[in-house]
This record gives sequence, C-alpha cells and structure tokens, in this order.
Amino acid sequence: MGVAAVDVRRPEQLDQVDALIIPGGESTTIGKLAAQYGIISKVRERAAEGMPVWGTCAGAIFIAKNVPAHPHPLAALMDMTVERNVFGRQIDSFEADLDMPVIGPKPFHAIFIRAPRIARVGDGVDVLATLNDGTVVAARQGRLLATSFHPELTPDRRLHEYFLSLIGGAP
Ligand code: GLN
Repeated sequence: MGVAAVDVRRPEQLDQVDALIIPGGESTTIGKLAAQYGIISKVRERAAEGMPVWGTCAGAIFIAKNVPAHPHPLAALMDMTVERNVFGRQIDSFEADLDMPVIGPKPFHAIFIRAPRIARVGDGVDVLATLNDGTVVAARQGRLLATSFHPELTPDRRLHEYFLSLIGGAP
C-alpha cells in the first residue's frame, strides 16, 4: 500500500510512526508486556496528540477504556466496553460477511478468532459494523479504530485504506 511498516517494541519508536496498529493475540500478554516495556503512557501520549491507533481483536481490548475483570494494565484510549471471549473458545471461531458502509457497499468478509465484542460505546463513538444479531464488532472514535476481527487475514484492503485515511485527517 506504499506505506513503510515497522515493528514497534519500545516507547521511543512511537515518535517515529504516524499511526499504530495493535494486532490480535492475547490481550493479557499484550497488557503485561506493554507495562513491562513501559510503553503504555507513550501510546496514550501519542494518541492524545492525534496519532491514529487501530486495535484489532486483542488490540481492541487493549485500547478499550473498560474491559470487565481484565487482570493487566491496558492503554484505555477509547470510550467503549469490550468483553473478551464472548463467542466461546478457539474452536468456536467463525467468519461472517459484514455490512460496513464507511468502506463501501460490498460486504467485508471478517474472520473472528476467539474474538471479543464491543458491548457498549460512549457518545463520541460511531458503530461501523455489527453482526446480524446486532453485536457491535467495529467502531471508531475520532482517530481511534477498533475491530473484533482480523482484517490482516483477508486480501480486502479497504479497512487498511480507511485507517490510513485517518492520518492527518479531521478527528
Ligand atoms: N481471546 C483473545 C483475548 O482475549 C483475543 C484473540 C485474538 O486477538 N484473536 O485477548
């Protein structure tokens, strides 16, 4: 997509990037290591300056302001409640076609791997996609983006393009 991507592991690297994607994985591990590496306050600082941050799956958990009973520190950027593992165990992972008008009329094929759901969104948060039963699985607050699923596993680039459009754009 014409964008240089670097792995961010240390707080000072955040001064060299225009945007940050926090990927899926295991949010307890992400929270524990982020605290150990002292990166949480720097993520908060850069996000407060307007750096776009996109959290996918465990990353969405990491950027949520409210996560019931989470045992580790989190970045707590976005005004939403995210509940972990609501669809069941790893074996209950699934795929779904989502209507997502902000990226166009064609549905987005989404892969959910032991995914969380967005259980509540605050006033400044826009819901971008839901499952057929109304479960919220994508949302945006200014330059913060959260998706319950894994857009890096499908060839559709529209969400990545949408995220890039947040760099330097209106909050
Ligand atoms: N179940 C994981 C968690 O709670 C998230 C899974 C994922 O990122 N695919 O952190």
